[in-house]
Amino acid sequence: STAAAIDLEAVAQERGIKYFLISYVDLFGGLRAKLVPTAGIAEMQKNGAGFAGFATWLDMSPADPDLFAVPDPSSLIQLPWNPEVAWLASDLVMGGKPVAQAPRQVLKEQLAKAAALGYEMKSGVECEYFLTNPDGSAIFDGADTAVKPCYDQSALMRQYAVIKEICDSMLSLGWGAYQNDHEDANGQFEMNWNYGNALITADRHVFFKYMVKTLAEKHGMRATFMPKPFINLTGSGCHVHVSMWGKNGNAFADPKGDLGVSQLGYHFIGGLIHNADALCALTNPTVNSYKRINAPRTVSGATWAPNTVTYTGNNRTHMIRIPDAGRFEFRLADGAANPYLLQAGVLAAGLDGIANERDPGKRLDINMYTEGHKVRGAKRLPLNLLDAMRALEKSRVLRDGLGSELVDGYLKLKTEEWNAYSRHLTQWERDTTLDI
Ligand code: GLU
Ligand code: MG
Ligand code: MG
Repeated sequence: STAAAIDLEAVAQERGIKYFLISYVDLFGGLRAKLVPTAGIAEMQKNGAGFAGFATWLDMSPADPDLFAVPDPSSLIQLPWNPEVAWLASDLVMGGKPVAQAPRQVLKEQLAKAAALGYEMKSGVECEYFLTNPDGSAIFDGADTAVKPCYDQSALMRQYAVIKEICDSMLSLGWGAYQNDHEDANGQFEMNWNYGNALITADRHVFFKYMVKTLAEKHGMRATFMPKPFINLTGSGCHVHVSMWGKNGNAFADPKGDLGVSQLGYHFIGGLIHNADALCALTNPTVNSYKRINAPRTVSGATWAPNTVTYTGNNRTHMIRIPDAGRFEFRLADGAANPYLLQAGVLAAGLDGIANERDPGKRLDINMYTEGHKVRGAKRLPLNLLDAMRALEKSRVLRDGLGSELVDGYLKLKTEEWNAYSRHLTQWERDTTLDI
């Protein structure tokens, strides 16, 4: 293919690249890399860069042989703020075989399944984040205190220097960045770039997080995508906009369909609704994630995060919103989601919906926060990570879709994390139990 035909050493000469970051993402979404000088790139392009898998979150043993990260040349991104370095997403190989639980691999396999049905998944992500002081204890801008801070022009413009640098970077990379805003929490921002092929979006999502963190540091701040860093403020979601494209264009678009969405689109939504509990373990992967969803009101009035497994039209109080024809917005996921497992999980659930013609049920056009209790049988989202993990453990759909290596490895590591959390004694317990 074209990727194999790209000679990275030649690209380096042409574009003045001195170093390559050969990087990959582990199961927890951690970005790992080796920094390789151009002199070493030809060998690495062929055989990959070596890593000790057990040193990362990949469910490996310290006795396992080295794993190799083989860079995908088509993913190359020259760092806009340091063009002598180029970033590459890689695929993992161990003992000559692809690592089945490697997140990028898992997504590629889902996309291949969709392709076999004649569809390309296209998606866009909206990565919300906070700018905090370097130790992360408070938002950076002490003047950003409005009760309704959403779209606050002054608070947005006080961060012009860093926002401009990030946005300029996306523009120079050709991502089609088109807007930046101050979100509904003090210190919270969002930037949007064009949607596209789900693998490209996932690679860019990974790079976006790295870029925002790096440039925030350069400006003396810290950027965090943590789902709920401040309990009384709205959290950071990572909404995903989804459509499936066939040979006749967008297969989710149908002018005759309800809200301009096709039957295929509703089956996909039905798959997300049917598999939401299990999917939550991937899209909302941390203990902290559950403090964003199911959350009470915040000082600004609403959290904008879902608490029920429901869908609607242009209304932000449900898990799925259909803002306009030909696509939907999946509002469940948060900033801690692994970018590849997020897309792969959504696609696996959607493909199940398509294969089994899952009925999404009735669209609810109500304010779910204030009127949700009136809807009989409206399913609630898992209340904590353990509930979501148990749902994933039981999910045939995600196991068959994403593979046992992924599901078992992921659950093993997440169980260790849950146990570590459970052993942690909190001040809340002391305050409420000391005098019992
Ligand atoms: N921050 C909200 C969330 O946690 C989303 C706000 C919005 O609609 O953009 O999902
Ligand atoms: Mg937003
Ligand atoms: Mg959104």
